Amino acid sequence: MKRFTKITSSIGPKSGSREVLEKMISAGVNVCRLNFSHDTGDVQGQKIDYIREIAAEMGRPVAVLADLQGPKHRIGNFETEDKFPIVPGQKFVFDSDPTPGNSNRVQLPDMDVIKSLKSGDRVLLNDGKIEMKVEKVNSDSIEAVVVRGTEIWSRRGFNLPDTEVATSVLTAKDRADLEYVLTKNPDFVAISFVQKPEDVVETREFITARTSHPVKIIAKIERPQAVDKLDAIIDAADGIMIARGDLAVEVPFEKVPAISRRIIRMCREKNKPVIMATQMLGSMVGSDFPTRAEISDIATAAYLHVDATMTSEETTISENPPFVVETMAKILENADIDSIENSQDWSDAEDLPENDWALSITVMAELNEAAAIVVFAETTKAATLISCRRPDVPVFAITREDVVANQLCLSRGVCAKCDKEMFESRDAIAAAKWFGLESGVLVIVDGEKISLRKLG
Ligand code: PGA
Ligand code: MN
Repeated sequence: MKRFTKITSSIGPKSGSREVLEKMISAGVNVCRLNFSHDTGDVQGQKIDYIREIAAEMGRPVAVLADLQGPKHRIGNFETEDKFPIVPGQKFVFDSDPTPGNSNRVQLPDMDVIKSLKSGDRVLLNDGKIEMKVEKVNSDSIEAVVVRGTEIWSRRGFNLPDTEVATSVLTAKDRADLEYVLTKNPDFVAISFVQKPEDVVETREFITARTSHPVKIIAKIERPQAVDKLDAIIDAADGIMIARGDLAVEVPFEKVPAISRRIIRMCREKNKPVIMATQMLGSMVGSDFPTRAEISDIATAAYLHVDATMTSEETTISENPPFVVETMAKILENADIDSIENSQDWSDAEDLPENDWALSITVMAELNEAAAIVVFAETTKAATLISCRRPDVPVFAITREDVVANQLCLSRGVCAKCDKEMFESRDAIAAAKWFGLESGVLVIVDGEKISLRKLG
């Protein structure tokens, strides 16, 4: 195995057909992200069916991640044109009136946020290109003054970086989408605009009340309120997505790399997988060559030892999503090989107890120059813990349930296979051979039992 960093790919209009999905999975997609901000219901259900069919045909696991839209706010439409000029210093009103807007006012369809707003709070529109300050909050309108920006566009995002929004993290739409997607047994559900650990708990309660399928919850970090409570949010969730799109609007963008590095380190310490997301290959929507900055960004994520990187629009609306996946795989593979061959000191990245179980296994693999660690995985736990110690050798996980193998698709350096016979026979040699290994020492983990075997 050359590539340790996993690929999460967003699936959309240009990648939802069986044919394209098959090519993308062959090119290296480990986790398929279905974005419920764009499609819902059976359109997403069909893609899940295809992914399951393709994975079964290929005999390897692929995970399905359902990404809920969450409480994302947008402004309404404008009169005659799509945009209107505004000038710094002028007043602007957001209200509940669906009449198309103009240079002085526009509708805010979801007025619930009004209860959480206070004067002095910032309002950011259109990816942060417009900044306003709230002057007065009335019972059904918000009076603001423009600080920055020259034109306002219809239907653009409305971010409130200073406001802890009191509404539930699951909107009525999210609940309906979740009800539906839970009938399709997704491996992961991602929740957007998480602010606090209770948001994860609420989602977990909603899920466990409806299914016994062991769905894992990914908390998207994209609000300053979440950055303040990282510790408890990572503890509550099963994994984290660094959602840099909204994060770079809601916190000063220059802070995003430091926050990302902190999240990655904390996730490793807390044994939770972490995805680096958004604009990783955005330029490839209109080009068949990545920018130098994108190449560096992807490689840096691999060097920082994230579990997975992610593709966004570049695999939903571009002409050639499988080529985008190949491009990302190539960059990751080279960074991963370099990272292993010229291994760096990651001591600043860990604050682990001395007798850490997974770390001892990793050290044992290193001291014995092992070729792989083979885990007989009843659940995702042991393989996830070992993966979070970032061993230099692959972790081959043999499971007896598809969902366990699928969920391990997100963990760095783990190759999983669901094979009941192999699991029950505990034949580590056969397992390593199945993964293409012909010789070398294996560290074998089977519950509490750890052993060494020589292959070939
Ligand atoms: P989104 O999340 O694409 O659902 O907004 C990702 C991000 O904000 O980075
Ligand atoms: Mn987002």
